[in-house]
Amino acid sequence: MQSLWNDQAAAQYVGDLAQRVYTSRLLGAEPALVLHGGGNTSVKVRERNILGEEEDILYVKGSGRDLASIEAHDFAPVRLPPLRSLVRLDALSDVQMAKELKIHVTDPAAPALSVETLIHAILPYKYVDHTHADALLAITNTPGGLERVREIYGDLVVIIPYVRSGFPLAKRCAEIVPNAVGPQTIGMVLMHHGLVSFGATAREAYERMLDLVTRAEQYLAEQQAWHISMPDVAIPDKPLRHELAALRRDVSDVAGFPVIMATHSDSQCVSFASRDDVVDITQQGPVTPDHVIRTRRVPLIGRDVQAYRAAYERYFAEYAPRADQPLTMLDPAPRVILDPALGMCAIGRSARDATIVNDLYRHTMQIILRATALGGYQALPAQSMFDVEYWDLEQAKLHQAGKPPMFMGEIALVTGAASGIGKACVEAFLARGAAVVGLDINPGITQLFDRPDFLGVRCDVTSEDEICGALETTARACGGLDMLVLNAGIFPSSRRIEALSLADWQKVMRVNLDANLVLMREAHALLKLAPQGGRVAIIGSKNVPAPGPGAAAYSASKAALNQLARVAALEWGGDGIRINSLHPHAVFDTGLWTEAVLRARAEHYGLTVDQYKRNNVLHVEITSRDVGELAAELCGPLFAKITGAQVPIDGGSDRVI
Ligand code: ZN
Repeated sequence: MQSLWNDQAAAQYVGDLAQRVYTSRLLGAEPALVLHGGGNTSVKVRERNILGEEEDILYVKGSGRDLASIEAHDFAPVRLPPLRSLVRLDALSDVQMAKELKIHVTDPAAPALSVETLIHAILPYKYVDHTHADALLAITNTPGGLERVREIYGDLVVIIPYVRSGFPLAKRCAEIVPNAVGPQTIGMVLMHHGLVSFGATAREAYERMLDLVTRAEQYLAEQQAWHISMPDVAIPDKPLRHELAALRRDVSDVAGFPVIMATHSDSQCVSFASRDDVVDITQQGPVTPDHVIRTRRVPLIGRDVQAYRAAYERYFAEYAPRADQPLTMLDPAPRVILDPALGMCAIGRSARDATIVNDLYRHTMQIILRATALGGYQALPAQSMFDVEYWDLEQAKLHQAGKPPMFMGEIALVTGAASGIGKACVEAFLARGAAVVGLDINPGITQLFDRPDFLGVRCDVTSEDEICGALETTARACGGLDMLVLNAGIFPSSRRIEALSLADWQKVMRVNLDANLVLMREAHALLKLAPQGGRVAIIGSKNVPAPGPGAAAYSASKAALNQLARVAALEWGGDGIRINSLHPHAVFDTGLWTEAVLRARAEHYGLTVDQYKRNNVLHVEITSRDVGELAAELCGPLFAKITGAQVPIDGGSDRVI
């Protein structure tokens, strides 16, 4: 592993903490060292407090902060001497430890402390780095792992047998380290967990970490266990959306809440899932117990979610009685599914969670394969995994967890999503926790939002193939479809009936009506499998109840769409799918309405622009955001018992009321 240290860049980081920030980011830049908030770093400094007294302060990475993008304020300053005294205790629960750590923090605005803080405190070195390096995990998770570690590192490291993170691990380190370190010691190996390096400078600790990792990599290479060749496999290219939606439904039912399920059918995943020994190598447990919180102890092989549930319940029943206190069982649903016809499904409560599961399990697959090449993968016993999965702080989180956002774990698809009302709908669904797929003919849709819970897909809704492709993409990215927002539409320039060509008429019908029929038809099977019932929100128009002259094609298309929605409400009620429409009017903050057009229209009616915008019963301006929010609410619990409704959003129209 190459050092990323750069003298010029490092010189920009002045001071002990700044240097800490710099090399922490270098560690974070390498996913084979740390992933998603994993790993932690610290520096010890002497500071004056407000009374002018000198204090020894440990700056340690806040819990869950990402090393790759860490800032100085992501480190929590905590008084060192009281922390060091804590390890004299015989035992300390996680909850007590968290309390003690908090008491000694010198900045009330500091982030929560890492559970591994005490390890940093007890080590008598200025800079301490800790990673969960893949290469080391491939070696420690083998039958002769301990001997191999001794062979690789000799007296460069102190070896700490596996103990759970938190107080037990810090206590073990405090017992072992003082008698085991020598002048040649540059770090520690935490068996089945990771590496620790230390140094007098940030650079020294960082480069020692790379040295330790490189030795592990070289060892794997010497043992022909570094480059893993994958057999060629056939990547499935037939449509999978209906099977995926059915599988997600099963997982959601077992979980007790809707989940996001991202399917990865690339060669790495398909090849791994297709191995003859996939059961043997995956059913032992994760490469380090930390992962159990995200990935569960074992993946589901195949699609029998009920069997997974039964096995999880047996696992809980076996280990829970051995705990010190009564435990609450987590949901018994898998987080990783391996299936030769699908590859890997990564499952999470949110799109972000599913992304993390995907990243963790990709590394897991590689580590397992390297360990297998080294002579056999051997994870820690199930008891150790259980202890982490059910440790105090995680149980406490479970009980403290507030109500999740309204659409957590659900998937919404919005058409015409690149701008105006469509974009506002995307924002409203994202704000309520949904994963959103935005469709638009404008290629800019793919860059609309850069976040894990949004996927922009360029799609011409008048093409049946492209609609099917977009639904396939949605199901592969998220697992299925819960909510459909039919928004895409065109509003042609004014034309009276006597001048309306059939071509112009049909163009409007094609986008405003036919495309929605195809979308509804193709989405029905997915919506029917939505864990909490499918929902369709239709962006209609005031023109439905109150048509305007010169807008025959538009008014007729929206009226026909309205009728289509009413029939769908009748036909799909038995499938638990609700369809409601909203009829906006005079939404002026869209691309359609430039300042010049607005001025011209206002003048036409003898009004100012502001009067024109508020020309309704309530004298209020209707914005895209108002419409987006209402569309989201139509899909929410408030409308749980309503279907076939039509809600005007126009400030009150004297032609409609
Ligand atoms: Zn760790």
